[in-house]
Amino acid sequence: MNRRQILQFGSAALPALHALTARAQAPAPAPAPAPAPRIVASFSILADMAQELAPAGAQVTSLVGPDADAHVYEPSPADGRRLARADLVLINGLGFEGWIERMVKVSGYRGTVAVASSGLQPRAGGHHNVDPHAWQDLALARRYAVNISAAFAERWPQQRDEIARRNADYVARIDSLDRQVHDWLGAVPRAQRRVITSHDAFGYFGAAYGVDFLAPQGWNTHSEPSAAAVARLIRQIKKDGVRAIFIENISDRRLVERIADEGGVRIGGTLYSDALSKPGGPAPTYLSMMEHNARILAAALQG
Ligand SMILES: [Zn+2]
Repeated sequence: MNRRQILQFGSAALPALHALTARAQAPAPAPAPAPAPRIVASFSILADMAQELAPAGAQVTSLVGPDADAHVYEPSPADGRRLARADLVLINGLGFEGWIERMVKVSGYRGTVAVASSGLQPRAGGHHNVDPHAWQDLALARRYAVNISAAFAERWPQQRDEIARRNADYVARIDSLDRQVHDWLGAVPRAQRRVITSHDAFGYFGAAYGVDFLAPQGWNTHSEPSAAAVARLIRQIKKDGVRAIFIENISDRRLVERIADEGGVRIGGTLYSDALSKPGGPAPTYLSMMEHNARILAAALQG
């Protein structure tokens, strides 16, 4: 309420006016530091991108943490309270966070929900489904970065210049790694680029860098793969000469171990699909995750 509004209210506002006058005469207190912007991202990969792109001092947290599966996440009351206090919420979109709409409604959060994948053309499948794992292609991650920075600049216009600088720096690093990943996988003969993972999270990676991924589980992890699907995959390993099978950090490794055993194919290592590793692991940031995945894939396929 400014002074003009207070005066218009007449005598009822007088105590407030006196208070204002008294404060004006007191020695000027040090200005209170502006509260740090609170950004809540839906999962660890987006939280890392947000950390790279947000204005300095922002406090970024993730609802679904490292090594955790966002497909089957169940929000806790504490997560709901964190969402309610956020200044901006960041999600992947493309149906990845099936739980977010209800969570926003229940928490009472009224701010912006920025969608990182906004405007990109998703890979489509049957039943009106789309593949949500677009971050697995660095060229699409560049779009994510541009969308995230645009949302930040709209939310914090005073820091627009800093946000633009951070975006330019991050996009340059994304582009440079994108070229490297093309080089590493391009060095493997095309016929050897066949891999099995536990769920179908690498369709965008495969399309971008020319690798065929097969998986017993589809675009989400809600249901266990059928025995028939597993048997089919084992036959395909033998028929197609699949070079390697990979464990995923968010999935139970036993299924992959069984398929490796029965198909007579070796395990190439752990791929990071839908979550980062914990700090100190091989993939604690989005860029280190993409580099790790590309390196171990190229090494296993080179044979
Ligand atoms: Zn997934």
